[in-house]
Amino acid sequence: MDTKGKLIVISGPSGCGKGTIVDKLLQQDGSLQLSISATTRMPRGTEENGVNYFFKSEEEFEQMIRDQAFLEYADVFGKYYGTPKEYVLGKLKQGKNVILEIDVQGAMQVIKNYPEAVTIFILPPSEEVLLGRLKGRGTETEEQIMKRFGKAKAEMEYAQQYGYRVVNDDLDTAVAEVKNIIDHAS
Ligand code: 5GP
Repeated sequence: MDTKGKLIVISGPSGCGKGTIVDKLLQQDGSLQLSISATTRMPRGTEENGVNYFFKSEEEFEQMIRDQAFLEYADVFGKYYGTPKEYVLGKLKQGKNVILEIDVQGAMQVIKNYPEAVTIFILPPSEEVLLGRLKGRGTETEEQIMKRFGKAKAEMEYAQQYGYRVVNDDLDTAVAEVKNIIDHAS
C-alpha cells in the first residue's frame, strides 16, 4: 500500500482568492496540512510568527539557503520566500497531504524536482475582477497595487504549466473543484 502523502501546490496571482480557498479546504479536510513558509518580508496586520510565516532576517534566510533547508525558494517583490524542506518531507512520509501556497517561480522548481506533485493554478474570472479585488484589500498603496497587478498578469502566463487550472468565480464552487482534484489526483 502506498502511504505517501500528496504534495499539492496552489498558486495564483494575488487577489485571485487562493488564500481563502486554502483556508476553506483546511477547514473541510482535517487530513490536509499547510506548509508554513519562511520569508524576509515584514508581518502584515495580525500575522504571527510561526502561524502565517516564519519571519526571518535576510542573513538567516541566506544561511538556510546555504544549509539547503528549502524545498524551493524565490525572490518575490524583492523579498525571499521559501518552503522549509524537512517539515514538508516529514509530513509526506507520514502519509499526510501537504499544501504549498507558493508563487510561480517556486512552483516551477517543485514541478522540476517533484514531478509527482499535484499542481493547481487559481485564476480570477477576469482582469477587471482581479484589479477590483486587489484594490478592495485596502492594505496596500496604489503603487503596490499596480505592481501586484502587473506581476499577476505575468504570473497568469504560467497557468498552462500547472497540472490543473481552476477559475475562482464562485468561491464554494472553486473550493469544491480544488478538493475534487486533490482527492482524485494519483
Ligand atoms: P504575501 O506576501 O502576499 O503573503 O505573498 C506573496 C507571494 O509569495 C504569494 O504569491 C505567495 O503565494 C508567495 N509565497 C508565499 N510563500 C512562499 C514560498 O514559500 N515560496 C514561494 N516561492 N512563494 C511563496
